[in-house]
Amino acid sequence: PLVLGIESSCDETGVGLVRDGVLLGDALASSVDEHARFGGVVPEIAARAHLEALVPMMKRAVSAAGVSLSDVDAVAVTAGPGLASALNVGLAAGKAYATSLGVPLYGVHHLAGHAAADVLGHGPLPSPCVVLIVSGGHTSLLLVEDLVRRPIRHIGDTADDAAGEAFDKVARLLGLPYPGGPAIGRIAEQGDPAAIAFPRAKVGDFGFSFSGLKTAVARWVERHDGPVPVADVAASFQEAVADVLTARAVAACRAHGVTTLVVVGGVAANGRLRDLAAKRCREAGIELRIPPPRLCTDNGAMIAAVGDLLVAAGAEPSRPDLSADPSAVLTHAQLGGPILV
Ligand code: ATP
Ligand code: MG
Ligand code: FE
Repeated sequence: PLVLGIESSCDETGVGLVRDGVLLGDALASSVDEHARFGGVVPEIAARAHLEALVPMMKRAVSAAGVSLSDVDAVAVTAGPGLASALNVGLAAGKAYATSLGVPLYGVHHLAGHAAADVLGHGPLPSPCVVLIVSGGHTSLLLVEDLVRRPIRHIGDTADDAAGEAFDKVARLLGLPYPGGPAIGRIAEQGDPAAIAFPRAKVGDFGFSFSGLKTAVARWVERHDGPVPVADVAASFQEAVADVLTARAVAACRAHGVTTLVVVGGVAANGRLRDLAAKRCREAGIELRIPPPRLCTDNGAMIAAVGDLLVAAGAEPSRPDLSADPSAVLTHAQLGGPILV
């Protein structure tokens, strides 16, 4: 099927077209610059930016894909989690396009989208696999048997901050621009990852905690005399995050007898995390899959990818009264649909 995907959960307006697991074309607009001076995403600004960008991105994606809107077989739209005002813009657009094209609408969980991004380019996910989601608002280890046909099992979550949130907060206290992940990644290349021994917190068997790490960085900077060696702090912080994420993900694979690890979400664009995951998976005999960096951060193609899987699985469309669920927990890839068991 040809599926149109729409993403508007945060500050990226994404539109993508996927046919049978293949990304045909996509387009992305970001309001990140408009939020920069506030140090974080402002919901009203994000919603207005989505409203302005949606139709232009739709046109650009359709033309990049070389298809016509009338060829579309289904529409998939992020229904949560995310900012309510931002989600509502994409949801209204998704309903309008689905209704006017006379095709079914599928509400999609944003984090299932992050996982499905890896299907584009790498093919179907093996069953079972462990998925490490590391994004701006979430950090979870999942046991996935079938992304759209089976409930998704959480085997570990963060007890406090998400990994991306830690990057953003540490960047802020180092005076680096928002979003912090890419900025820390860049400056860390000039630093020594072993310069400072920051803590690696573990919670339970496979859980994470990053707020203590953020506080440790703040303390270290506060107590340091003289100019802060920003590159060394950034590299040491990044090393602590990459270390704990990869160690726990590999341990989760081992404990569950799983031979494939899939790393997704915005932080999966991080070079050091990618390298360390590759090294540790190689040593453990685990196959590692990570989407290309541009599909790690928010985009419309990943939402279309979930829609494509749902249609292929014969899932019922979501209910017409599908509404945004800003705090949706990831148990099923589809939102507002009949629960698949
Ligand atoms: P969620 O998906 O949890 O709802 P989100 O959609 O805002 O949150 P993503 O778009 O998946 O998050 O990822 C954005 C996060 O990824 C930000 O915290 C950003 O700092 C981080 N990030 C992006 N690129 C990199 C990078 N190269 N290194 C580290 N972190 C990165
Ligand atoms: Mg973003
Ligand atoms: Fe995201």
